[in-house]
Amino acid sequence: MTVRVRYAPSPTGEPHVGNVRTALWSWLHARRHGGVFFVRIEDTDQTRLVPGSEGRILESLRWLGMDWDEGPDIGGPFAPYTQSERLPLYQAAAAALLESGNAYRCFCTPERLEELRNYQRENHMPPGYDGHCKSLLPDEAEARAVTGEPNVVRFNVPDEGSTTFTDLLRGDITVENVTLDDFVILKSDGFPTYHLAHAVDDHAMEVTHVSRGDEWIPSAPRHVLLFRALGYEPPIYVHTSIILAPGGGKLSKRHGAKAILEYRDDGFLPEALFNFLAITGWSPDGTTEVMTKEQAAAVFDFEDLNAHPATFDVEKLEWLNGIYLRQMSLADLSERFAQQLERDLPPEVPRPLDRAFVEEIAPLVQERVKLLPEVTPLVDFFFATELPAPDRETVLGKPFRERPEAARAALDAVVAALRPLELWEPAAIEAALRATAETSGEKPGDLFMLCRVSVTGKSVTPPLFETMAIVGQELSLARLEAAAGVAGSA
Ligand code: GLU
Repeated sequence: MTVRVRYAPSPTGEPHVGNVRTALWSWLHARRHGGVFFVRIEDTDQTRLVPGSEGRILESLRWLGMDWDEGPDIGGPFAPYTQSERLPLYQAAAAALLESGNAYRCFCTPERLEELRNYQRENHMPPGYDGHCKSLLPDEAEARAVTGEPNVVRFNVPDEGSTTFTDLLRGDITVENVTLDDFVILKSDGFPTYHLAHAVDDHAMEVTHVSRGDEWIPSAPRHVLLFRALGYEPPIYVHTSIILAPGGGKLSKRHGAKAILEYRDDGFLPEALFNFLAITGWSPDGTTEVMTKEQAAAVFDFEDLNAHPATFDVEKLEWLNGIYLRQMSLADLSERFAQQLERDLPPEVPRPLDRAFVEEIAPLVQERVKLLPEVTPLVDFFFATELPAPDRETVLGKPFRERPEAARAALDAVVAALRPLELWEPAAIEAALRATAETSGEKPGDLFMLCRVSVTGKSVTPPLFETMAIVGQELSLARLEAAAGVAGSA
């Protein structure tokens, strides 16, 4: 049997890490078993729809590198893949359940239901529908419905017995039917509830494994009852555990429970986030952590998921991000740096940036950057056509604060040593600067910092000699001269 799994988000907001992790595991399972992964949009709760949400959901998957074989945008053998376009199917299922006595119409008003809830609360009774309309004769109920009296359709849960379902990670779970109330399957507006819609669709779309968050465990017996009443075989359930905050407790935005696209905007690599989500609650062997999506897809199985909650470890994500950045090919890395820089650099810097130039700079900072945005302050001076005149205090720094003439003399000596260089490359620049330190009697470290600040305007930069090589001889000399002027200007 072909594995068929789905991601069934409700377009009610931004897709977050927990939700997408469940999708990602389904994707891995499908890819591992040569199966099908598809997307279905569950928009039956029309009051909660957020415009643009569906687009952001698909964009998140795409950015993470997860492709889908069928979906709302590309169709497929079971189209449409948006539930609001499938209403006749749910209505037919509800009609069949009414017909077979597995469901009944309920005309209780919102006021009556409210009173019932209050009564139950005051008397410390479990909440739930009390079966008030169950005794209506079906013909009478149909007649009332035909006149347009508002009603919902409720599933008729058996009063006796128990229902068992199997969760792949937790084994058999059994509940007594008396603990389940007669839940709504079709609302008065003709839209199904999640319970009915998912059962109808997962059957129609031949889903083999339903992987979803463990908040659905309490509803699963209802779903199994629905499947059976409709004459369907229930799928295999895989309820994925929640992600906890470090130290336990609910994961909040502060701990990193952000939307997927926020991670993109914060400069994380999709490879790193994919890897991180995959291993937050799963490990192929208990130790391996760094895995590309292809490597994970070669070994993944739902059965190996951890049924216990995982902890969200944002430091691990940052660590992985650094690993992926360092492993990346120069061409790929340069392209990502270029895109980041095009976002961050001041508007007067012409776009697109010269990719070959970025490729010269990228190796200098590949080891230093953990998150993409960190690249900008490290290298922005390379792109400045004109640096602001160096600030005297910055140029002098601590070593020369009391000795501006020494700074000026050292910079003059540096210029004199560098000007005649015929080969403007790091080793030659280094040799000239070391020799200057020697003859001027300045500590090499102090002299190098003086040059760094003069040429780049900042004290933290990529390695000095390589930096000067890329900045070029003419521009480096001009900046050193300008700094010498500033140093001696008092
Ligand atoms: N639409 C449901 C949700 O977003 C889907 C649950 C499921 O995967 O069945 O929670």
